[in-house]
Amino acid sequence: MGYRIFISADMEGTAGIVSSLQVTKGQNDYERGRLLMTREVNAAVEGALQAGASEVVVCDGHANMQNILPEELHPEAKLVRGCIRNSLQMEGIDDSFDAVMITGAHAGAGTQWGVLDHTWVGSMVYNLRIDGQTLNEACLNAVVAGYYGVPVVMVSGDKVTIEQTQALLPHVEGAVVKEGYSRHSALSLHPDKACALIREKARLGVQNLGKMEPVQVNNPLTMEIDFFKTDMADAAELVPGVKRLSARTISFTSDPETLFRVQELILFRLRYE
Ligand SMILES: [Zn+2]
Repeated sequence: MGYRIFISADMEGTAGIVSSLQVTKGQNDYERGRLLMTREVNAAVEGALQAGASEVVVCDGHANMQNILPEELHPEAKLVRGCIRNSLQMEGIDDSFDAVMITGAHAGAGTQWGVLDHTWVGSMVYNLRIDGQTLNEACLNAVVAGYYGVPVVMVSGDKVTIEQTQALLPHVEGAVVKEGYSRHSALSLHPDKACALIREKARLGVQNLGKMEPVQVNNPLTMEIDFFKTDMADAAELVPGVKRLSARTISFTSDPETLFRVQELILFRLRYE
C-alpha cells in the first residue's frame, strides 16, 4: 500500500493568472483559467504518483468549488467538488492521509506583491488570526491538516506566498510559478514549465516526508476576524459562541473541528457584503 495524498487546489496562484477575469465564473478568460488550474493539479498528482502514492484525493477549493474540469483531471485522482461543506479547502481530509499538497496558492489579505491577495472572501476579511497569528489560506489549510496529524509537503503559487507559507512550514517544498509586480501583474513561468516544477516539487515533497512536521494545533483554538464593515460583524455575532471584540472584530474559541465549521458558516453561509 502506497501513500495517501490529499491535494487542496486553489486558483489565483496558478502560472499565467493575474486577473479576476481568469478566476471568476462567467468572465471571458475563466474557461482558460480553469484549464490552467487543472493542469497544475495534474502535475502535482503525477509527482505524487512518481513518489509512490497509491491514492490521491483532490479538493477543489476556489469560489464555488467547481473549477477543476473533471474530464481533464488525472484519472488516478478522485475529486472533491461543490459545496456546502464543513471545511472550505480541506473537505475530505482525515488522519488516514500521509501528506497534503496545496496548488494555486495566493498570499493572505494585505500582502504586497501578492497576486490577487486575499483571505477566504476578499470583500469581507481584512485580517484573520488563529491564536493571534495572521495566516494565509495555505497556512490555514496546514492547521486543518495538522489537526489530523498530516504534514503539508508541497505548496505552489507566487513568490511571496511561498515565502509566507515557509515561515510557518520551514521544510515544505515550494514551487514558485510567478513573481508579483503588483496585485494584478506578475512575471510568470510558461504553464508547461510551471507544471514541470510542480511535478518535481511534489515528488520531492513526498520523498522528504520524513522531514516534514505536521503543524501543532492547540485545543481549544481561537479565531479572530477583522471585517471590512460593521454589518459583517453584526451578522457573525448571530452565531452562538461568537464574541464581539470591537465594531469590526469578532472572535470564536472552540475545539478545532467546530472552529473550522464556524469559519465556513460565517464567511460563506452568513455572507453579508
Ligand atoms: Zn481562490
